[in-house]
Amino acid sequence: MESTTASDPARDGDYLVRATAAGGSIRALAARTTRVVEEARRRHQTYPTVTAALGRVLTAAGLLGADLKAGGSVTVRVIADGPAGGMIADADARGRVRGYAKNPQVLLPLSPGGKLDVGRAVGRRGFLYVTRDLGLKEPYTGSAPLVSGEIAEDLTYYLLQSEQTPSAVALGVLVEPGGEVRAAGGLIVQRMPGADTDDARRVEENVAGLGPVTRAIDAGATPEQLVFEALAGLDPSIHEARPLQFRCRCSRLRSSQALISLGAAELRSMIHEDHGAELRCHFCNETYRFTADDLARLLAEAQARGGKA
Ligand code: ZN
Repeated sequence: MESTTASDPARDGDYLVRATAAGGSIRALAARTTRVVEEARRRHQTYPTVTAALGRVLTAAGLLGADLKAGGSVTVRVIADGPAGGMIADADARGRVRGYAKNPQVLLPLSPGGKLDVGRAVGRRGFLYVTRDLGLKEPYTGSAPLVSGEIAEDLTYYLLQSEQTPSAVALGVLVEPGGEVRAAGGLIVQRMPGADTDDARRVEENVAGLGPVTRAIDAGATPEQLVFEALAGLDPSIHEARPLQFRCRCSRLRSSQALISLGAAELRSMIHEDHGAELRCHFCNETYRFTADDLARLLAEAQARGGKA
């Protein structure tokens, strides 16, 4: 490892890589998401167990978004009975990832193994949903029951049951004692139809030999290195590297449009009774404040559009 301390985007930035091996019969996706998950933690003020749980869901969304073309998006939802109260994350073709947990501040003891008890925070009874919106036809949603609430196992089961793709999935978030995210990332290796069973076994051994993905990332492993280790001996080639970032698609303009769509009567009541409005984006926790004057302008716009008087 190099010992430079200067920030180097190739070394420190978040990105994913897409690769194939064994003549295209095996494919792999790997990502570093340390900054994405830390930004989610900072914005939502998540407690460690939820930071880890949400970080895995954000990483899953980022990885599943690897195949998206412009205008497409993928959404991962985990709805379960744990105290985190459900999580949602989405990613678009430009590598913009965002997400939230319904209850970000859940305090739980460590698991008997001394780890953050993600399965307990998420809950073990529930479903994982994946919605792929290719920007063309109707979005497609598949679902599968949770296996453990640990997310990686749940996603493995989903990919097999709902998308008929045998996959090895590793997702991890390493949280500092102070709560900050130290390392985060993930790896998905998939067997395409016609893959050789010896090749598949080799992948399983490789992935098992990798150990926890966060440990590798914390030690400086890049997504390329994760992929090359997972696909070692199978003639891997990398097809694409794509930056990932926590970035929401909300804006003040979109919030204004949402207010206008409420109609004139509702806007009037906000002006006269509330003297303003405050809209908060669930995905990124950004708050958009509108004064009574702001709302009066939106009311004029609503009326000009021929909305309800
Ligand atoms: Zn937002």
